[in-house]
Amino acid sequence: MECNDKKCPVHGGLKIRGNMFTGTVVSAKPHRTVVITRTLIRQIPKYERYKKFTSKIYAHNPECIAAGEGDIVTVGETRRLSKTKSFVVMSIEKKAEKVDKVKEEKMKEKKSESVPEIKTQ
Ligand SMILES: [Zn+2]
Repeated sequence: MECNDKKCPVHGGLKIRGNMFTGTVVSAKPHRTVVITRTLIRQIPKYERYKKFTSKIYAHNPECIAAGEGDIVTVGETRRLSKTKSFVVMSIEKKAEKVDKVKEEKMKEKKSESVPEIKTQ
């Protein structure tokens, strides 16, 4: 699929350089923008333990990729695209599993059906 997005890494003149990482899309509501979180593990020397923390990154979402919420995507660092964005979505690694949610709902329905009502008289 082609697109007219100048900020598209495939069809536009955008060059990827610097960092690259994979993360989960938590929000795809703003136009052509996605919010991605990645979980990092940091060592806390004082306690000699590791702590998980997440970092949020705003990335450009080109029309030809159109990542949605829950998708696992690879983003690459590029020039500063806007006040908050200097990353762009390069590819979708894994689409959000919407099928499973439907299955879960069906399972719930079945469960509620199989439970007989107890009548106290
Ligand atoms: Zn494109």
